Amino acid sequence: MSLYDTLRDYWGYTSFLPQQTEAISSLHLNRDVLLLKATGGGKSLCYQILPVHTNTLGIVVSPLISLMKDQVDDLRQKGIRAATLNSEQGANENRATERALGEGKINLLYVSPERFVSSRFIRLLKGLPLSIVAVDEAHCISRWGHDFRPEYRKLRMVKETWPDVPVIAVTATATRAVKDDIVRQLNLKNPRVLVGSFNRENLYYEIRASANPKREILGYLDSHRDVSGIIYCFSRKNTEELSSYLQGQGYSSLPYHAGLKDNIRRKTQESFVRDEIRVICATVAFGMGIDKPDIRFVLHYDLPKDIESYYQETGRAGRDGMPGECILFYDRDDLAKHLWLINRSDMDRDYKEVQKKKLYALTRFCESPVCRRHTLLKYFGEKFPETNCGMCDNCQKETGRVDAGVYARKILLCVRELNGQIGRGKIAGILCGLESNEVKSLHSQKPKSFGSLVDIPETQVKEWVDDLIFQGYIMRSGRKYPVLSLTEEGWTYLKGHKNIPIFLSKPKMSGKSSPA
Ligand code: ADP
Ligand code: ZN
Repeated sequence: MSLYDTLRDYWGYTSFLPQQTEAISSLHLNRDVLLLKATGGGKSLCYQILPVHTNTLGIVVSPLISLMKDQVDDLRQKGIRAATLNSEQGANENRATERALGEGKINLLYVSPERFVSSRFIRLLKGLPLSIVAVDEAHCISRWGHDFRPEYRKLRMVKETWPDVPVIAVTATATRAVKDDIVRQLNLKNPRVLVGSFNRENLYYEIRASANPKREILGYLDSHRDVSGIIYCFSRKNTEELSSYLQGQGYSSLPYHAGLKDNIRRKTQESFVRDEIRVICATVAFGMGIDKPDIRFVLHYDLPKDIESYYQETGRAGRDGMPGECILFYDRDDLAKHLWLINRSDMDRDYKEVQKKKLYALTRFCESPVCRRHTLLKYFGEKFPETNCGMCDNCQKETGRVDAGVYARKILLCVRELNGQIGRGKIAGILCGLESNEVKSLHSQKPKSFGSLVDIPETQVKEWVDDLIFQGYIMRSGRKYPVLSLTEEGWTYLKGHKNIPIFLSKPKMSGKSSPA
């Protein structure tokens, strides 16, 4: 029997999707695999088929019990001998699974990382024909990812305990740092790294600056009746408020967050999957493990925490390949909420800095006039060949923002020159060449940057300075009064290591002379 027979008999498919053949054949040759591919790319088959085909045992590590259950149900329906051991199912069921395992009657076993590394479980596996170990949602192992789970770190012992068993790590989201981290943390040996496209062709992306997102959401729902969607909110409170507001307006909506009782969450999820309710107002707690292919829209009522989260959350739309719309209602004030949350958390300093950087990258994405798809894919190290994707707001309209690198550079140079000495108003004054006593008293001679933006109105320069603070190039801090200094991003930009455009609102000339 060939692999194709197994593919047809159990899955009903006649061919493999991109990267599947490579992944499966590498595992077959006992080589570790790292598979990075968008949601819906067919990652699970890569680790499911071999143990079935060779009648051996494959172990799948998964972060959520609900995820394990869904996959096991799905496999059993295909006639595959799959099971899970977890704390939620009764002792009897766990015992039965252990017995079946010992009798060689299970080909795919789903477990949590904690259970996998327990000595009891390792003893249980002794003598069994373990053929592969799969680590699902592998980004959870990395602190640089968007969903770090410390218990994943223990998986390091997998390679120590079974050095000859190939490990496949899969994730739908990985930046370079996360990718390297997965390989290092899992101690993968010369892994075959397979990267699929992260492009979700059927998704439309839009960032909408909005003064009244509630009203806009209402308008949106009005024209999207009888389809399902998720509205992501920042806090539990927001999910409940927004949901009852929508209910009050006649929409079938429910809130979902980690503070709700298990049975309520399960019920909400089920009625969403069964189309009994159409809209879920949720925190990030909703999503992983929700198997609903026909979600038509994902709205962000508040700013997510980074680009990975945004990509992951929007990625839940259109898993059936039909069109999906992703609209983020953008309000600059959300940035402060996130910064506050990062600052007051008990993460260490380095980690906080990473989180802030990622947050700033997201705000740059939101404010950029460049194709959204282009920026998203670039973030994951993928090049998008076309200049116009036709499926994002920026490709469909002209924005009022331009690459203002020349102006930004002058502002940053001025901040560097006067690093940590003066505030925003005075910096603008200096750049615009305004003679003022305060500026003079600070320096015996004029700063070099004096008047370097003489053609631009002071109000405009102030706006740009704010913009650069907002985009994370300049930092505002100080004990007595806020002074400006460059952030690491700002320094890097000036060093010229980063050939990135900076987008600011279109300059209004003061008319004194033409721009540089
Ligand atoms: P991922 O885990 O990457 O999000 P899944 O494993 O859930 O993706 O697969 C996404 C969809 O693609 C599923 O409906 C799955 O049945 C389907 N699929 C997987 N492999 C194949 C294949 N070789 N041919 C056709 N469809 C496939
Ligand atoms: Zn585009």
